[in-house]
Amino acid sequence: MGGNWRSLHLATPTPDPSPQGGGEKGAAVPLSFRMTRASPIDLALAQARAAAERGEVPVGAVVTGPDGAVLAAAGNRTRELSDPTAHAEMLAIRAACAALGSERLTGCDLHVTLEPCPMCAAAISFARIRRLYFGASDPKGGGVEHGPRVFSHATCHHSPEVYGGIGEAEAAAMLKEFFAGRR
Ligand code: ZN
Repeated sequence: MGGNWRSLHLATPTPDPSPQGGGEKGAAVPLSFRMTRASPIDLALAQARAAAERGEVPVGAVVTGPDGAVLAAAGNRTRELSDPTAHAEMLAIRAACAALGSERLTGCDLHVTLEPCPMCAAAISFARIRRLYFGASDPKGGGVEHGPRVFSHATCHHSPEVYGGIGEAEAAAMLKEFFAGRR
């Protein structure tokens, strides 16, 4: 397959290639440095945890701006809102767009604990997200590296850079525990 994504690194957090100046923001990627300050994926994991406590599938998402500042954070609320589109990514994208007063999030990055589904992948493309960082892979419901592989189609007019496996172990454990508890 001739996927057109520029980079997909599985299970290997890749240092942010953008010039960050001070270097401190680069600390958002090495997950072993949890004590310094909460990285975006740690915030997303916290949102996932909170979602589980609400009885929602534990998925969390965070949108950061071009400068690395957190613009929005959300967890799944499909049950609470009776809305099948209320995935963490959709809510975070909506909130970030509202915060910026823009329909596009040019230069912004999305950090999410689970591989986005096809709906969210399409929204990520529409929002012109610069980079997508996701945690666990989702062979059953994912739409990025599985299923429709939304970003690899010619009809997808904007593909973010994609980095998988960010915070994967914790994200996957949370999902496993959640679904085990439902059986
Ligand atoms: Zn989704």
